[in-house]
Amino acid sequence: MMTEMLLIVPILSSFIFAAEPATPITSTVAAAQASTLSLSEICRKDLSGFPGLVDKKVFEAACAKVEVMPSCQSVEKHPIFHYDKKGNHKSNQRILVFSLIHGDETPAGSVGRFWMERLESISPRNTWRVVPVLNPDGVKFKTRTNANKIDLNRNFPTKDWEADAVKYWKRDTKSNPRRFPGEKAASEPETQCALDQIQDFKPDFIVSVHTPLKVLDYDGPKVKPPKYDYLPWKNLGTFPGSLGRYMWFERKVPVLTMELKEDLPASTQPLVQLQDVIGFLVSLDINPQKTIEGKSDTGSDQSAPAPSPAIKK
Ligand SMILES: [Zn+2]
Repeated sequence: MMTEMLLIVPILSSFIFAAEPATPITSTVAAAQASTLSLSEICRKDLSGFPGLVDKKVFEAACAKVEVMPSCQSVEKHPIFHYDKKGNHKSNQRILVFSLIHGDETPAGSVGRFWMERLESISPRNTWRVVPVLNPDGVKFKTRTNANKIDLNRNFPTKDWEADAVKYWKRDTKSNPRRFPGEKAASEPETQCALDQIQDFKPDFIVSVHTPLKVLDYDGPKVKPPKYDYLPWKNLGTFPGSLGRYMWFERKVPVLTMELKEDLPASTQPLVQLQDVIGFLVSLDINPQKTIEGKSDTGSDQSAPAPSPAIKK
């Protein structure tokens, strides 16, 4: 199925961009979206409303390159597009960024767009894929959850999902509707899209952008926290059905969760600096001797899920 998808994606995207901007998309994905906008117009429309646009020309150039995988559409059939930038280094690592998995965390959209802009204007060492809006219906309705009222960051098919996800939701969140994991693991099209992105892109490292807890939360090999003044380094733990548990504890792909403040930083400097932090963390993965006390990447004490903490991301 994935081989098939890999074949389809370039055909689909070249078709879209050959037609852009005058001709409406007529592909299956776009037809289902019932829109006359091209994918690049959808990108511009979806992302231009977030505060803090740096350079309109660069932003539009990035939007002209977005693509969509066949499975990537929301409950309401909105395309979940992504932006790719190839790294220039021979041992480049693959970094996947998801922002707006929670639809009401608006600054995360500014950060996803910023990364597209930044990558469009530089030649990065590592290979990046940015999915700036993983939950477009949540953005539309200004909800954390998707259109089916499910928290996508509790809907990943972790091994403990069946046994624990709903139980944890009832017991530890007092059935908070903002954190409902769904009736079934990976029941949601947005979760499926994220899983397909992971399978297609094969990331070495994932960045997930959220608000408003004001921390950098790292699920990965134990490392000496990198210097980063804008947000403190703090482990918030993972949950049944969360991306961090699914990717790090079950697949050993580190996940850096950036929990922004409610407001964006006054300048883009902390975001540029964060890109350096990510580059540093990614380089540790290929150089395990750099991890503290000579521990190997997977030999740390984080090899089993930590108990779920009180803070909810
Ligand atoms: Zn969130």
